[in-house]
Amino acid sequence: MDTFLMQEAPSYTAYRERFLDTVKQRGGVLSHYEHPLKGRDGETLYTDVAQFGNPEAKKWLIIISGTHGVEGYYGSMCQNLYLQQLNPNDLENDTALLFIHLINPWGTSWQRRVNEDNVDLNRNFVNFENELPENSVYKRVSSLFGRSALNSEKRAEARTIWDRAEEELGRASLQSQVQAGQHHDPDGIFFAGQHSTWSNVTLHRIFESLPESCTDAICMDLHTGAGEFGHPMLMAISDRHYPGIDDAKELFGPWLYVVYTAMGNTSATGVSASTDGYTSKALVNMMEDKRFMQLVIECGTYTHHLVEHPVMADHYLHLRGDDPQGLSEAGKEAKQQLLEHFFHMIKTGAKPPGYVPSRYSIGRSPA
Ligand SMILES: [Zn+2]
Repeated sequence: MDTFLMQEAPSYTAYRERFLDTVKQRGGVLSHYEHPLKGRDGETLYTDVAQFGNPEAKKWLIIISGTHGVEGYYGSMCQNLYLQQLNPNDLENDTALLFIHLINPWGTSWQRRVNEDNVDLNRNFVNFENELPENSVYKRVSSLFGRSALNSEKRAEARTIWDRAEEELGRASLQSQVQAGQHHDPDGIFFAGQHSTWSNVTLHRIFESLPESCTDAICMDLHTGAGEFGHPMLMAISDRHYPGIDDAKELFGPWLYVVYTAMGNTSATGVSASTDGYTSKALVNMMEDKRFMQLVIECGTYTHHLVEHPVMADHYLHLRGDDPQGLSEAGKEAKQQLLEHFFHMIKTGAKPPGYVPSRYSIGRSPA
């Protein structure tokens, strides 16, 4: 294991430099997409793309990290470790690799799940020319997630509203519908945005730069935080069936979880099936004329009630706005919790108290 990657305080700059160094050592071709905003330490932010193999190859493997910013430390670590083991000379002439490093660099640098617009990038890939859908369940409980919730009395009132909704709809259903995303409240959680974000546009530009010669591709989008503890869950998430899902089933058999998304759909994987606007959906659409397989890897960590989830403390920290870097005691605590949930646990392998393995856990064949 590369001990550099196990450092206690991950930073965008350290991970980026390590990625660029490894790519250069391995003889990859780099391109850089500069983000308009600065990072937490004042650094210039980029999504970096590294290419290996024949630029006119027919078959491409594409690996994306950092769709959810803070999950990018894990994704970057995977990309680095893969690169360290890679001998590009072993690639066949018809095969190429593309590493998309930190597609939401602002979120990674600022240690947030969302991007610079408070947008959950994995909700943002919708057609903004259409009328944006309303999320009435979210609206019902939205007072818990907006600015008024910074006042403790108002937050307690909002919690009562949440508890009533939870009693009526059931916890799983309420959480799933809230997580589905919403377009109306830019200060809320699971905000899907009101336009295509920088990362969305950049991902389109990167995929549009694939050569004409590319006829076959597999893409993996690396995530953490959903699913069973310690289990790297391999998923195909799509709003429809397409031939790549059959290819993936044949390749991975029972290890593959397929989630079809539509409003009201549910899934036992911990990933919301009611969500529109997944990165996966956009990529399946973009690659429709190719033999294409879109996969997601979700590394399960801890399970939290949504209201007590580490993203909530970080969300309130962001709404307060007086400590965006998380330097106060409360800020440090919020960032530490967030990193524990989305990254540190993966490094240390620590199990939560009372942990009981279930059917999704390592060593057990998924049903
Ligand atoms: Zn994620």
